[in-house]
Amino acid sequence: MSKHVNIVGAGLCGSLMAIFLARRGFQVTVFEKRPDPRLTELPAGRSINLALANRGLKPLRVVGLQSKVQALLTTMRGRMVHDPSGRTELQPYGQRPWEVIYSVSRPGLNALLMDEAEAAGVEIVFERGTLGADLAHDELLLRDESSGETFPTRLTPTIAADGAGSPLRQALMKRPGYDCTVDFLAHGYKELCIPPNDEGDFAMDPAALHIWPRGGYMLIALPNLDRSFTVTLFMPMEGDPGFAQLDTAAKVRAFFDEQFADAAALIPDLENAYLANPTGELGTVRCAPWHRDGQLCKVGDAAHANVPFHGKGMNCAFEDCLEMDACIEESGGDWSRAFALLTQRRKRNADAIADMALENYVEMRDSVRDPDYLLRQEVAFELERRHPRRFVPRYGLVMFRDDIGYAEARDRGRIQAEVLGTITAGKGALAECDLDVAAPMIRERLQPLS
Ligand code: FAD
Repeated sequence: MSKHVNIVGAGLCGSLMAIFLARRGFQVTVFEKRPDPRLTELPAGRSINLALANRGLKPLRVVGLQSKVQALLTTMRGRMVHDPSGRTELQPYGQRPWEVIYSVSRPGLNALLMDEAEAAGVEIVFERGTLGADLAHDELLLRDESSGETFPTRLTPTIAADGAGSPLRQALMKRPGYDCTVDFLAHGYKELCIPPNDEGDFAMDPAALHIWPRGGYMLIALPNLDRSFTVTLFMPMEGDPGFAQLDTAAKVRAFFDEQFADAAALIPDLENAYLANPTGELGTVRCAPWHRDGQLCKVGDAAHANVPFHGKGMNCAFEDCLEMDACIEESGGDWSRAFALLTQRRKRNADAIADMALENYVEMRDSVRDPDYLLRQEVAFELERRHPRRFVPRYGLVMFRDDIGYAEARDRGRIQAEVLGTITAGKGALAECDLDVAAPMIRERLQPLS
């Protein structure tokens, strides 16, 4: 096994991957297209906080970063749903104190991972982008982003953590039999900010992920350590309402005042911020295999970008790093075997979370206000209390556990949805539901979890 490894991309995934490899004694060079983000201002409109869950925390714990990461987190215990009149209702994510998720600063976490990688001996070369790879000649094609000078370096082995638009995925796509789809969502996103209030405190409850569900679109807000909130509007690109149509200050003001009045009152200079900030695209990448022999392997968004409605892209990318570490251990010095093992173990799970993330958009922007949905949630929590080892709501399987794959969570979720459908059909309240009917269905169809 070569002792030198290239990583392309010093984002969240590439930086953590570098730490795992350095811990194993590899010499790691990371090529990053952008300038060092620790020395530059964050571009306006970049998603500046992310939801981190147990699955993403586990790999960080394994590399010894638990306490440093802990200092970057804000705990979110549930969804705070805002209705159009401004009334709010907290929907807890789980039933136990530890069933929470966290908001973390993207630049803060990325900077920590870069610092730790460098401290472990990793070399990060900034402003060194890749143009792609020549698989036949085993060359990774690099460019100095300031001089424009291009030069090749040896490809084998390279780990591509170059994000959803991965130029290195293009190299694999040219190969016969390579299966890849990139599905853009007809909806995009735009970020805004709610600063701290006049007392310097959070302007809303910081222990929740705030949602303004409005059927075909929604606004969300996650707390930051500096007591601000990052606000994101998810909406169709075209149509009414849609990003293309909402193109003047007057239209923006009228739309926000009508749909999100309580949030609009907290966003200073709303119209200008809205018009100045970019509108981002969202999409799902599905491809296979993730690797080519022992030459090249994709991880993170480069392999499996998904839409952000389950808050899982980064978490999933971190799980790739942990699994790659295990695959390297098990493959006894053979990169080809390690890369093949990673695709084999993670692909099915990446596809499953991509599906669930798409489903969750409908849940977040629409279902959370639906009485049938709320009844199913209530019944699900009650069934979990009665059958804690067998019936665990799908959200909990995905967000709180780190010991079952996403594919298993999706499959169990489907069975549970059938059980809930049977129990709640035609019912309006928990007291009307015959929960005993569920017991044999659960025992027969849901194996106990460890
Ligand atoms: P990236 O973070 O995209 O990093 C790729 C790196 O590669 C970058 O540093 C880039 O500059 C570099 N690069 C690109 N091209 C080249 C090149 N040619 N040469 C060299 N370097 C290159 N995930 C969650 O888990 N929770 C959330 O709450 C969440 N919210 C999100 C909200 C939004 C609006 C969006 C868009 C995404 C969200 N995600 C979330 C997903 C998360 O951001 C990604 O899954 C995560 O950033 C993937 O990490 P990565 O390192 O694979 O890719």
